[in-house]
Amino acid sequence: MESPANNNEIQVLAEYVWLDGNDGMRSKIKIFTSLDATITLASFPLWNFDGSSTGQSHTKSSDLVLRPIYFCINPLTRSGLSREYLVMCEVVGHPTNTYQNLLPIYEATKNQDAWFGIEQEYILLDLQGKLYNDEKFNRYGRDLKSNEYYCSVGTGRAIARPIALEHMRCCLIAGLTIGGINSEVTPAQWEFQIGPLDALTVSHQLWLARYILIQIAEKYDAVVSFHPKPFKFLNGSGAHTNFSTKSMRETGGLAVIKSAIHKLSLRHSDHIEVYGNNNRQRLTGTNETSNYETFSYGNCDRTSSIRIPVNVVADGCGYLEDRRPAPNCDPYQVCRMILKTTCLDNFDGGDE
Ligand code: ADP
Ligand code: MN
Ligand code: MN
Ligand code: MN
Repeated sequence: MESPANNNEIQVLAEYVWLDGNDGMRSKIKIFTSLDATITLASFPLWNFDGSSTGQSHTKSSDLVLRPIYFCINPLTRSGLSREYLVMCEVVGHPTNTYQNLLPIYEATKNQDAWFGIEQEYILLDLQGKLYNDEKFNRYGRDLKSNEYYCSVGTGRAIARPIALEHMRCCLIAGLTIGGINSEVTPAQWEFQIGPLDALTVSHQLWLARYILIQIAEKYDAVVSFHPKPFKFLNGSGAHTNFSTKSMRETGGLAVIKSAIHKLSLRHSDHIEVYGNNNRQRLTGTNETSNYETFSYGNCDRTSSIRIPVNVVADGCGYLEDRRPAPNCDPYQVCRMILKTTCLDNFDGGDE
């Protein structure tokens, strides 16, 4: 005899995802039954893992605790037999938990209704570390530095489109706010955009979108490189971070944007510090990048740290684009720094 409660049980398949101690991501799947009529964050129990195998603790006290902080539909497992979710988790009390550093800054600046839209670029590599399908397409003698790859169409030009498209479809199925995709200047280089969303949501979603991409690439023997400059002589990748507050989006917003840019100019090195690893190799001042050492800004200027897009100049309000973050940046940290510098009332920004 089944008890009445059993009739209400649903099977949940939850893929828990977290940030490890080596700037990477880890996951494991938990299958459990739930009595919740509606699945909320609280439906996902705390879980633990062996931190000594993820670069996060020592074997003697290896257990670390995963606490769910965000979830969405899982577009990857597709068993069709359970309610399936991807669950972003924080590692409780661990130095790698950058979400907890963003949280208080987010709360303190919530009234300014800040939005972030992040353009995530990446380059697909093969198992030897070369550009994906390079051997195949080099037979045609194409110049890797030519202008034929950006927003391209055609065999040997738009390389690994099935990966980029499958990723886009999965992000949509997951319910993530993906804004679009395009191929980029380097062969097998692509971009997708997440946002605009608040600082917490954009960060959760960007991490999960990266996770989905990495897992899809497994099927194609492709390796996703989030390195800012995998090849010295080819265009690198970035994670341009578009940012606005309510007052920037309203009439007269351009003045607020300029004042935010001034604040950012005073904190260049603090920002660069958390904008991703190996970013110096990318920010050379060439290939549409700014200089690593110096802050600059400009209207429509793709060689500046901060660009004010053409539509924003025309409208007199909108958002700014911080072009400095690297593709391997941690959005929890990038969003924290931008909010802290531009939105905290008690900001200690020095004099004019
Ligand atoms: P680019 O011209 O630099 O390639 P994209 O179209 O790739 O620009 O990306 C622009 C990003 O800016 C998108 O992620 C979009 O969501 C975001 N965005 C648009 N409006 C705003 C806004 N008001 N505040 C923050 N982000 C915004
Ligand atoms: Mn873009
Ligand atoms: Mn781009
Ligand atoms: Mn951009």
